[in-house]
Amino acid sequence: MNVDFDAVYYEPDALEYPLGQMLSQRYADLPWIPVESHNRIPELSAAENREFPILKRHLIVGVRKTHAYSQNNKVSNFLVPYTSSGCRAMCLYCYLVCNYNKCSYLRVFVNREQMMERLLKKDAATPELCTFELGSNSDLVLENVVTNNLPWTIETFGREGRGSITFPTKFDMVEPLLQLDHRGKTIFRMSVNPEEVIRMVELGTSPLPTRIQALNNMAKAGYPVGLLIAPVILLTGWKELYGELIERLRVELSDQVKREGFLEIILMTYSFVHNAINSDAFPGLVPLLDREKMTGRGRGKYCYRTEYREEAETFFRTMLEDKLPTMKLLYIS
Ligand code: SF4
Repeated sequence: MNVDFDAVYYEPDALEYPLGQMLSQRYADLPWIPVESHNRIPELSAAENREFPILKRHLIVGVRKTHAYSQNNKVSNFLVPYTSSGCRAMCLYCYLVCNYNKCSYLRVFVNREQMMERLLKKDAATPELCTFELGSNSDLVLENVVTNNLPWTIETFGREGRGSITFPTKFDMVEPLLQLDHRGKTIFRMSVNPEEVIRMVELGTSPLPTRIQALNNMAKAGYPVGLLIAPVILLTGWKELYGELIERLRVELSDQVKREGFLEIILMTYSFVHNAINSDAFPGLVPLLDREKMTGRGRGKYCYRTEYREEAETFFRTMLEDKLPTMKLLYIS
């Protein structure tokens, strides 16, 4: 997949790092615009909501200053701020929009050695072996096309880490990861949705068949793997859509993934901010805010009402038990 940009906004300090220099050569033909901070680019924050797709074409290059880990209790024990935040793709529900509003463009942080050092220190200090989520702020497989950070991350942690690292993705560009010396310490998680949902809602991500193939290939390369069906969107006809998806997974997932992989199911949450941006930027696309099925959940967020969540949970548990019985379902949330 070719990831194209139209301009680079950068913190001048970033060019003192090898990755900053590599990016400055790689994108030498684009305009490079110096900024005081990757977090404060007034001309971009002042843009209209309808300019969201234009903002997404910019690449931001900076130095990460925030390194605080937060605790987590799903697949990982800690969420780690890592080498990027934001994303070049434009999924209409993207959780990053809640944090960064329309400035959820891809920001790449060049001080990866510093982030890895902290990670290894924390990993060495935990009494039990822990799992660290590196992909809660961006899609690292997409970022890798720009920075080539992942092979370094996976092999460095493989050599020097005790626990595990993990990240989810909606992209299929795993070829550079297949031959790595990962030592089983990277848990790769592929996120899927029905093809129609990918086409209408997950703008700029990889298609379903190649995501499934990428997951099969990663399992074959010895990585521990998981499959997310996420986020589940209760559109009209959702049972048919997700029923077909699960049947397709039954047919196309390798026996190895079915035997060794785990499952996560996450129902969509949406927000007032998403609704405002999407209505202006993508007026013709499917509206995701369903006031009949959703209810407020504080701070402008919406989630599905209990009765719809329960119906979805029963549906997924029944379907998965029938079609993918050997895959362990970790949670539905
Ligand atoms: S791929 Fe992930 S990070 Fe990127 S826009 Fe979609 S949901 Fe957001």
